[in-house]
Amino acid sequence: MRWTRSFIPTLRDDPADAEATSHKLLVRAAFIRQLMAGSYSLLPLGVRVVNKVERVLREEMDRIGAQEFRLPAMHPGEIWQKSGRWDSVGEELFRLKDRSGADLCLAMTHEEIFAWLARELRSYKELPQTWYQVQHKYRDEPRPKSGLLRVREFVMKDSYSLGLDDAGLDHAFQQHFEAYRRIFERLGVETVAVEASSGMMGGSESVEFMVESDAGEDWVASCGACGYAGNVEKATSTLAAVEDGPGLDAPEKFATPDVRTIDDLARMDGGAPADRQIKTLVYRLGEELVLVLLRGDCTLSEQKLADITATPEPVAADEDEIRGLLNAGPGSLGGVGVSGVRILADEALEGRRDLATGANEDGFHVRGVDVARDIDVTGYVDLREVQDGEACPMCGGELRVRKTIEVGHIFKLGTTYSEKLGATVLDEDGKARPVVMGSYGIGVGRAVAAIVERWCDDSGIIWPVNVAPFEVVVTVLNPKDVDTMEAGERLYEALAGEGIDVVIDDRDERPGVKFKDAELVGIPYRATVGPKGLANGKVEIFRRRGAEKREVDVAKAADVLVQNVLEERR
Ligand SMILES: [Zn+2]
Repeated sequence: MRWTRSFIPTLRDDPADAEATSHKLLVRAAFIRQLMAGSYSLLPLGVRVVNKVERVLREEMDRIGAQEFRLPAMHPGEIWQKSGRWDSVGEELFRLKDRSGADLCLAMTHEEIFAWLARELRSYKELPQTWYQVQHKYRDEPRPKSGLLRVREFVMKDSYSLGLDDAGLDHAFQQHFEAYRRIFERLGVETVAVEASSGMMGGSESVEFMVESDAGEDWVASCGACGYAGNVEKATSTLAAVEDGPGLDAPEKFATPDVRTIDDLARMDGGAPADRQIKTLVYRLGEELVLVLLRGDCTLSEQKLADITATPEPVAADEDEIRGLLNAGPGSLGGVGVSGVRILADEALEGRRDLATGANEDGFHVRGVDVARDIDVTGYVDLREVQDGEACPMCGGELRVRKTIEVGHIFKLGTTYSEKLGATVLDEDGKARPVVMGSYGIGVGRAVAAIVERWCDDSGIIWPVNVAPFEVVVTVLNPKDVDTMEAGERLYEALAGEGIDVVIDDRDERPGVKFKDAELVGIPYRATVGPKGLANGKVEIFRRRGAEKREVDVAKAADVLVQNVLEERR
């Protein structure tokens, strides 16, 4: 490839709206261009990287015996209605109608269609199988941002295991777990595997592969001592116990005219510290209003609430709804004496006494509350979001909560989709049994962005050789000088002949411009061919990672580069 014949429109400045490093660099280095919010064109350099990432994905899927499919991105609404997700998934699903008025949707994932195809399986003898594709997905994200990290249209490797029973599912899940480890290692990113919420996928168990990064939007709690790790949507911790006094014989109302928040009551004379208060929230789950109680110093995880109540999108009730239910405004709410409403209390409140909470009367609270005695709690559940520094639930060590990018997610789905869509096989006894499914995904663009977040510096991207758009750039310093250009061409041809992905920078530009572009684009090796070096029979080899430079004999340059590149290919 010749730079002069290539479309590599590098930019000097960051795009105005970009915050994430990978967003800035992928735009500036001419890998992507935004078409609209959450929608990107891949330029030729971007395609080269994506093809290499997809090659790794295909190789590792093939290695576990998976077969490649390619399914449509536009689906009949009917199949999504059968699975129930036409109704249970909210506005993230792009819906449209065809000219005859039939409901269609754009695929956000493909469980339904693979289960639909799995209806053609007849016998347990055909199982297990693993099916996959590398294909487009659509999600109507409320806040598309951060370049390739949060988009509305993206390519994903999604695979689906089909087996006869839970043991088969465990095996397929483990195979994918190991394949994902190999994939991310080959892509050059360190991941931590964490327990996660299965969210709208359903199923019994799921594991996310996370890359630590400030550009991420997922928070992961992990323990350095024992290796426990979980998405905060799922993770737990051990709270320090609070000693309760005997309390009062009955709750006692007291005036709190200036109290609006937990902190206000903690500061007030005669108030209560946050861990002696009950925080009362009202949520709308579909049509139903429920009370959510937490210890005053704890934060609600809305995802935990969603999972526990099987409600895809719990919504905090507005003030009118709250007043209609409890006759008071936020700031004076409590569960004492409330009946006919579901009351979900966090486990940290179980057995607690002598607490303070709102009186459901503006400007008043009650103290001396014994949760079991005074509140009609429907159930104690884990609703609390883990905070940095809390104790590990496994070993008591200190949990760290860090920002991460989710690059992969694997789910044990079970028989949810096969039952609803009718994917059954006959077992050994001739009885029809629903196929047991797993679902496994890696977002290609997000993986690319995570690689860039990990591998970059002030000058640009530092691609691992495995996914670099080019492995070597031959930079000819003075292409108008015939001897120099010929030496550059010879080196270029020699490398190309050895199967190296090489580009020759034959532009009539200042050396500084060419060096800057090569570093911004992130090509792992640069061979600089210039009249001065050639006069001494030398070529300069520059390694992008570590910025190491050395001079080698012209005659040996190709061999040295080939050897270096091959060592770093995975
Ligand atoms: Zn631990």
